[in-house]
Amino acid sequence: MATTAITTYHALTEAEAIALAAELFPEGARLECREIGDGNLNYVFRVSDQESGKGVIIKQALPYAKVVGESWPLTLKRAAIEAAALRKHGEFATGLVPEVYGTDEKLAYTVMEDLSHLTIAREGLIQGKSYPKLSTHIGEYLAQTLFHTSDFALHPFEKKKLAAEFSNPELCKITEDLVFTDPFFDYDTNDFEPELRQAVEAVWRNDALKLEVAKLKRSFLTEAEALLHGDLHTGSIFADDNETKVIDPEFAFYGPIGFDVGLFLANLLVQGITRDGEGRDTIVKHVENTWNVFETRFSELWKSEGIEDFRGVQGYRESVLEKIFRDALGFAGCELIRRTIGLAHVKDLDGIEDAERRIHSKKQALHIGETLIIKRGELASINDVTALLEEL
Ligand code: ADP
Ligand code: MG
Ligand code: MG
Ligand code: MG
Repeated sequence: MATTAITTYHALTEAEAIALAAELFPEGARLECREIGDGNLNYVFRVSDQESGKGVIIKQALPYAKVVGESWPLTLKRAAIEAAALRKHGEFATGLVPEVYGTDEKLAYTVMEDLSHLTIAREGLIQGKSYPKLSTHIGEYLAQTLFHTSDFALHPFEKKKLAAEFSNPELCKITEDLVFTDPFFDYDTNDFEPELRQAVEAVWRNDALKLEVAKLKRSFLTEAEALLHGDLHTGSIFADDNETKVIDPEFAFYGPIGFDVGLFLANLLVQGITRDGEGRDTIVKHVENTWNVFETRFSELWKSEGIEDFRGVQGYRESVLEKIFRDALGFAGCELIRRTIGLAHVKDLDGIEDAERRIHSKKQALHIGETLIIKRGELASINDVTALLEEL
């Protein structure tokens, strides 16, 4: 893709977006453009051909984030990180990420495949959709992206080169604060209904819980195991009954493998809390299947393509997977808590109109979150995790 002659950053106009995308369309096509993002961190332009309806997406980073009514400066480098992560993950997770057609570092945009025929999984799940292939696809995505960017698959020189390329300190800091720190103390960034205050103060007083969260935060800060997506919630996933595509890896960095796994599991759990009967069973199956597919595929890749298995020492692979499992549960617990009482909530919970049911669901999310963090060393299998949902 050619880039523009424009060399200093400014927010793209719709006319500029059309000009940038034009070469991806047949000559003379009549193009139109609409900004479709939610506008807190990034612009998302959809440029489309008025006749065929075919489109492309241009996502442009804003130099600030609009949060709590304020603007926080936020590095534009995240656009290049996002494009590079989409490409790197796309090498391994075939068909599970959008194709990248081009990117421009100065203007901080990425041109990519239009996925408008799919829906954001969080939205669909809230409407009661079951997405039969979601967990198989995400289990596969997790195994492929995380295995292939880890020391189990890469020469240590290559791995360390990639880890340096994907240093993403500013975006990591957001996670460090909003996922691992603020919700566990009485910080201004937190946001919860007065009816939850008692439950929240119990979290703040729970020293045993906070000790475990401190350990999890340290893992996040220090363990450069694989190239993570870094923000793998159900709002970062497009899906329908047959297809699944993971978008929005602007938080990508080298971190602990269990973080991506845990974030996805937590967002399934939050949805499971809001359902009952068969609807909940669907989510239970997705939680179990995500882990089972991940574990199976990761093991297969280890055996067929692994280079670092420590000369086949007995039990090594099993111990690596055990660590990933324990980490994932702990990170899932942090995600459940922060999505309930921290700065950034989820519509699965906030969208429950009946106040009593909403508060009840939020208390359940806090409860499961705490249990996952405290008991992550004891829960024997993924079925013990889904039992927490079934017991509600
Ligand atoms: P942000 O980082 O600001 O959350 P996202 O990458 O999640 O940005 O995109 C925001 C929204 O823009 C998505 O929820 C989706 O509605 C739309 N969008 C993003 N990427 C695409 C795409 N490739 N195809 C179609 N719509 C997209
Ligand atoms: Mg968004
Ligand atoms: Mg997003
Ligand atoms: Mg994002």
